[in-house]
Amino acid sequence: MGDPRESELAASLALMRERVTAACTQAGRDPGDVHLIVVTKTWPVEDVRRLADLGVRDMGENRDQDARAKAGQTADLDLTWHFIGQVQTNKANSVTRYADVVHSVDRLELVAALERGAGRAGRTVTCLIQVDLEEGPEGSSGRGGALPSQVADLARAIEESPHLRLGGVMGVAPLDRADQRSASMAAFARLAQLHEGLLAQYPDATIMSAGMSGDLEEAVAAGATHLRVGSAILGERPPLG
Ligand SMILES: *Cc1c(COP(=O)(O)O)cnc(C)c1O
Repeated sequence: MGDPRESELAASLALMRERVTAACTQAGRDPGDVHLIVVTKTWPVEDVRRLADLGVRDMGENRDQDARAKAGQTADLDLTWHFIGQVQTNKANSVTRYADVVHSVDRLELVAALERGAGRAGRTVTCLIQVDLEEGPEGSSGRGGALPSQVADLARAIEESPHLRLGGVMGVAPLDRADQRSASMAAFARLAQLHEGLLAQYPDATIMSAGMSGDLEEAVAAGATHLRVGSAILGERPPLG
């Protein structure tokens, strides 16, 4: 235990696991149904190794260049890489070489690019449809995400792609609202409803990726199966330089 950073991560991870369990208890859910993805973006690959030592298998990243490097440097570990950021079409090929799950599939052009990349790499990539959870007809978050009306077409396109698997849905609650708690609850309720519609047609699309450091309780209450948590475990991110 000579590594103070590992001790720090062990402590914050233990607290996070307690917090998730408490949220599940509160929501009447089985903690075994809620998976924790640790978002390591901006943190060094050494932290990925420490987290792996502490039993974390699911890592999240949002920039291709960083994600590719970290996945490459930890190829000896049996990790699952979740790509959670917007994917530029010209990065799709690269992302399919290491990502097991892409949470941010939001347009048909990207589905086609991911299928080409996964086919070339001889891999199968699980795709989640990111839904824009801003209210209003045209959405406006700027964080990416398909409109609810586009979900059915995206789901069909993913299902028809031999190297892609439809895993479910992903959403980010609108941020900086005066009443953040109720804004997050309303957003996650919309996501859960869309997820239910998708599940009726695609019973294997069981994933609902929602909830971050600040709103995971609301996400668990709405039915999230995968939480994406960064700063509450690793600390406040250093400013991007
Ligand atoms: C950074 C990020 C997270 C993690 O956010 P924290 O507030 O650090 O827990 C989750 N989801 C997405 C899409 C992100 O970009």
